[in-house]
Amino acid sequence: MGRVYNFSAGPSMLPEAVLKKAADEMLDYEGSGQSVMEMSHRSKVFDGIIKDAEKLLREVMQIPDNYKVLFLQGGASSQFAMIPLNLMNKNKKADYVLTGQWATKAFKEAERYGDVVAVASSKDKTFSYIPKLDKSMFRPDADYVHICMNNTIYGTVYNEIPDTGDIPLVADISSCILSKPIDVSKFGVLYAGAQKNMAPAGLTVVIIREDLIGNAQEITPTMFNYQTHADNDSMFNTPPCYTIYIAKLVLEWIKNEIGGLEKMEEINVKKAKILYDFLDNSKMFKGTVVPEDRSLMNVPFITGNDELDAKFIKEVSAAGFVNIKGHRSVGGMRASIYNAMPVEGVEKLVAFMKDFEEKNS
Ligand SMILES: *Cc1c(COP(=O)(O)O)cnc(C)c1O
Repeated sequence: MGRVYNFSAGPSMLPEAVLKKAADEMLDYEGSGQSVMEMSHRSKVFDGIIKDAEKLLREVMQIPDNYKVLFLQGGASSQFAMIPLNLMNKNKKADYVLTGQWATKAFKEAERYGDVVAVASSKDKTFSYIPKLDKSMFRPDADYVHICMNNTIYGTVYNEIPDTGDIPLVADISSCILSKPIDVSKFGVLYAGAQKNMAPAGLTVVIIREDLIGNAQEITPTMFNYQTHADNDSMFNTPPCYTIYIAKLVLEWIKNEIGGLEKMEEINVKKAKILYDFLDNSKMFKGTVVPEDRSLMNVPFITGNDELDAKFIKEVSAAGFVNIKGHRSVGGMRASIYNAMPVEGVEKLVAFMKDFEEKNS
């Protein structure tokens, strides 16, 4: 069987060039006589891999020197606890913006550790937009403000970084990391599970301003303290070695094959436009998000008829476009078009949708 076009929200497609390189190096990584899966994380060879991965991430994302890059485990979901444990340390207050399920989970977890307020929410319209934010909405004594930058399930994205003044801004960028340039200096912490746009599952990347490290709450477990990992260059314990290696290959692909994040963004804008233009002109399919807040990465859509949705999902899957069913909490369809999805995959999906519309109306 040939490869399918995989529109999964995560884990998701990886660039074919990366998979091929990993396959080539599977039995013998650069003359070491071992797979990266097998080697000691304390070996010289692996030390080269993790250092390269960090160097590439810093270069591609232009991460300022006063930020630490941490390679952790536990998924973005562990960050929902690590953020408050480490950052809610002065006034034990934090402000959250609720733009979907992940933002809400982060908020609920933080409630266990301090005084947490939801300052804005788009729940009134099924999270189909990003609430308008203003500096005056945040409590001046909040230890941080938390947002979820790209809302994977609902398909919305912040096109503007909220101004929080001196309050550190923390953002979950799990489903948009590496999709376009981002001004890291505007944030206190950025974090992302790798399995959307960077690597297989198992790695969580945290980019944190150095002054925010070192004041964790007393109850913080050692493994949940950023200081532990910052002091040990992400090698306090065994890191997710193989996933870090694949992340390195993906970063090399972005740097050398694509030509950096500006180019990546151009391609992502082009891909998303093909799909959104079709949705805006179709009589059968409709996007569910207000146009100004549409994500480049996750595109939810519906026909408005559950039976027709089910028929479409069945037929589109049989044609080799897989994982297009919407999240179980919202139904309908969702096409996730991360970095590794080729333009041709989106063009072919739209051609299939056009054909389906003609045959079924
Ligand atoms: C997938 C996702 C998560 C959950 O990530 P895990 O690594 O599975 O914990 C959190 N936030 C966002 C925005 C996501 O897309």
